[in-house]
Amino acid sequence: MKSPLLTSIAALVLAAPAFAADEKHPIGYQDTPIIPGTKWHVHDGERPQPPVVTPGEPSTIEKAGTAPSDATVLFDGKDLSKWKMEKDGGEAAWKVEDGHMEVVPKSGYLMTKDEFGPDFQLHLEFATPNPPSGDSQGRGNSGCFLFGRYEIQVLDSYNNPTYADGGATAIYGYMPPQVNASRPPGVWQMYDIIVEGPRFTPDGKLAKPLVVTVLHNGVVTQNHTALIGETPHRKVGEYHAHPEKGPLKLQDHGNPMRYRNIWIRDLHMPTPEDIGDGPKIGQ
Ligand code: MG
Repeated sequence: MKSPLLTSIAALVLAAPAFAADEKHPIGYQDTPIIPGTKWHVHDGERPQPPVVTPGEPSTIEKAGTAPSDATVLFDGKDLSKWKMEKDGGEAAWKVEDGHMEVVPKSGYLMTKDEFGPDFQLHLEFATPNPPSGDSQGRGNSGCFLFGRYEIQVLDSYNNPTYADGGATAIYGYMPPQVNASRPPGVWQMYDIIVEGPRFTPDGKLAKPLVVTVLHNGVVTQNHTALIGETPHRKVGEYHAHPEKGPLKLQDHGNPMRYRNIWIRDLHMPTPEDIGDGPKIGQ
């Protein structure tokens, strides 16, 4: 004898409307309220779908990963064709071997040939010299300069005390990292840097500061930090108006630092049409 439950399920299955396999079912809704300030209904099936991006292979300590499908690859371990010397625009003189590049001390900073901005996501990996030598700012020092002028500090901060606004992922001379997520010397580490570039008025005044979020080995160390300006040594930084796009630079601070798997993707900042009226503060 069939159980009452099975009988009920069978009745439901039989009662379900039969759809042809190729029939298109509408997605979403057109009879829901409009999201205030936008042209979209809640759950609007006509709202554009996000583009598909194939993520890259994740990095491991032993092996560099790969970039997402919509990124610009700046270094994939093979050559320095996307880079030049900052000082004279000459051929990039850092060493490339075993899938990484290495600072040749005293050769000078590297700079990208292309410019990026205003808003982007940057991924880079580095390893500090092992065994370590020197201390404080003299140990495993490099840096990643956004727009060629704002330094996100790269440093061997593993058991290496230094001034807080000079440690790994510090906004140099301004904002220490929230935590020190450093790995030991010689072990590959990752920075993921989300950049909202500064904007300037036509007469060169600051309209919107540079805002930076940094993940160090997957740990947030800068959370939407607004910079007070550039990142000089022993001075309070100031802004100096510059174009919305700029190069990236990697610092030669005299230490044979290694880099690998560097890529960048443009970021879409939500437009007023996306946001609509936004949240109602204080309601
Ligand atoms: Mg540095």
